[in-house]
Amino acid sequence: MIGGDVVVNRKGEARIQRGHPWVFRSDVVAAEESLEPGAIVRVLGPRHVPLGFALFSTLSEITLRLIARGSALPEDFLARRIDEALRLREVVAAGTNALRLVHGEGDGLPSLVVDRYGDVLVVQTLSQGTERLKSEVVRVLVERLSPRGILERNDPRVRQLEGLPASVGVLWGDVPKTLEVEEGGIHLTVDPWKGQKTGLFLDQRENHLTARAYARGRALDAFTYNGGFALQMAAAGSEVLAVDSSAEALGRTRANAARNDLTSVTLREANVFDLLRDLERRSERFDIIVLDPPAFAKSRAAVEKAQRGYKEINLRAMKLLTRGGVLITCSCSHHIHEADFEAILSAAAADSGVALTIVEKRRQARDHPVVLGVPETYYLKCFVLRRLD
Ligand code: SAH
Repeated sequence: MIGGDVVVNRKGEARIQRGHPWVFRSDVVAAEESLEPGAIVRVLGPRHVPLGFALFSTLSEITLRLIARGSALPEDFLARRIDEALRLREVVAAGTNALRLVHGEGDGLPSLVVDRYGDVLVVQTLSQGTERLKSEVVRVLVERLSPRGILERNDPRVRQLEGLPASVGVLWGDVPKTLEVEEGGIHLTVDPWKGQKTGLFLDQRENHLTARAYARGRALDAFTYNGGFALQMAAAGSEVLAVDSSAEALGRTRANAARNDLTSVTLREANVFDLLRDLERRSERFDIIVLDPPAFAKSRAAVEKAQRGYKEINLRAMKLLTRGGVLITCSCSHHIHEADFEAILSAAAADSGVALTIVEKRRQARDHPVVLGVPETYYLKCFVLRRLD
């Protein structure tokens, strides 16, 4: 099972000892010539002390992704990791049928994603290492969960960094065009073949339910996608304006609203930046606003521009709040950490002249675990703010 040895320098060793699962190419001192793409390798420190085992990439800057520490790798390490991941979900996502079963680094299985939508599983193998383990992953999932079907949604662009082609197709059983799942009593249709991510934004599940708890009066769900926040707020009795720039996304929101007999959702196809300006000009007011934009900072280089974008939409949304109104505001940019996001929100509040309190600091749902000491894995920030006066 072990393809060979890789020696890392002091820096790489220190990273692993700190709990970080990645070693970059620049910290690899020696790797055997014959190592195959995605091989499982033994990782040695500069004095050849065994540090653990990792997935090896011939192309990515992330050359090693740690899968286990110590000097021995159990033969059934993959099944063990998957079992541990499933056990956590029984606690943090019991009773839901749309959830993330395996969240890469957060489950000790870097670059592997497994999502569940009812009786269908969707798998992403995002590095040479997990690509190589794909059939073994399928075998374990079938054995443990007996799904109706397993779909490979291997079209994220990160696969290019690994020299892997885009590939979407059935790995096991059969996978229908659309599926229906339930989230907090709301029925949602999912297109696992073409929907964003693997179909839904499962990382927002708990925050959708939070929005429902705060919802009252008039609500705005900017960046609604398929209505994750909007439908929960409508179910709580709010009159909701749901906005997205994608007509296709709104089509599904419309169908979802109808499926749940929610008649108080109005859809608008618009660019949120323009819409917020327009609403401000017309002195419109909302009792609750949700801002859940796509990642504005997709790379470190884009951080400054992204900060301006986040500030702008938050500043405008703050001005649209009624007294006592609630702003649920999110950022899913890996490169903008919680403290940065809080600073952006503070600056927006100062410029808007609106006093706000922080009622909650939330994050991605608990089936997307954060690795302590690896800030990049805490990617989804979600603040609940309330307007004082
Ligand atoms: N809130 C959703 C997920 C939102 S994903 C949920 O919880 O399920 C981000 C959405 O923003 C996508 O549907 C995308 O089409 C939309 N979007 C991106 N840029 C936009 C813009 N400038 N104006 C309006 N919508 C935008």
